[in-house]
Amino acid sequence: MDGKIIIISAPSGTGKSTIINRIIDDPALRLSFSVSATSRQPRQGEEHGRHYYFLSSEEFRRRADAGEFIEWEEVYAGTCYGTLASEVERITGNGRNMILDIDVKGALNVKQRFGSQALALFIMPPDTATLERRLRGRATDSDEAIAKRVAKADLEMSFAPRFDTVVINDNLEEAVADVRKAILTFVSTNG
Ligand code: ADP
Ligand code: 5GP
Repeated sequence: MDGKIIIISAPSGTGKSTIINRIIDDPALRLSFSVSATSRQPRQGEEHGRHYYFLSSEEFRRRADAGEFIEWEEVYAGTCYGTLASEVERITGNGRNMILDIDVKGALNVKQRFGSQALALFIMPPDTATLERRLRGRATDSDEAIAKRVAKADLEMSFAPRFDTVVINDNLEEAVADVRKAILTFVSTNG
């Protein structure tokens, strides 16, 4: 396998997608986004095959049972997310570096599986109140979904010390620069 694996994890609402969108087309990083499968409904503007592969719960379970995922988690009660092995082959087989936006447990599983070929990067919100404000400002989730995400944030942040690199997303420009630099250093190193 040629390409490397960059795993990005953070509590929902921290700014992962914003940061990834800012670096994804940087030619020096040679990144391709890993499209995960999920059993949740698409949000407005989300497209099948671009943001996620949207599967029914039954289809998700069938593909999990068939061993098609390198990892999957029930990230929120009743909602599963997973990385398809076909996605890893599609991207890294082409010599591209694969960037994954996945939950903390999935992230550490992928890191364990791919070892030094993978960089696990955790993005930390400045504090929980800011996280909740960002989720409300994004205006994509119901009050119930926001409460679920905020409730999970403390547990997720407790996983941060197990990641290779932690970047705080307070000032967006600084966070983008820090993430870009960490990835560039990693993908420029042999091994
Ligand atoms: P995630 O992908 O981690 O769930 P998003 O990238 O969707 O989070 O960001 C959540 C919201 O916070 C978005 O509305 C985004 O514009 C905003 N945001 C992201 N980073 C910052 C930042 N550094 N300062 C202020 N707002 C931010
Ligand atoms: P959202 O519903 O906001 O798109 O994503 C919710 C959470 O699911 C985020 O923490 C995101 O990182 C995680 N997630 C997305 N795709 C995957 C995946 O393939 N595997 C795992 N384990 N988590 C994922």
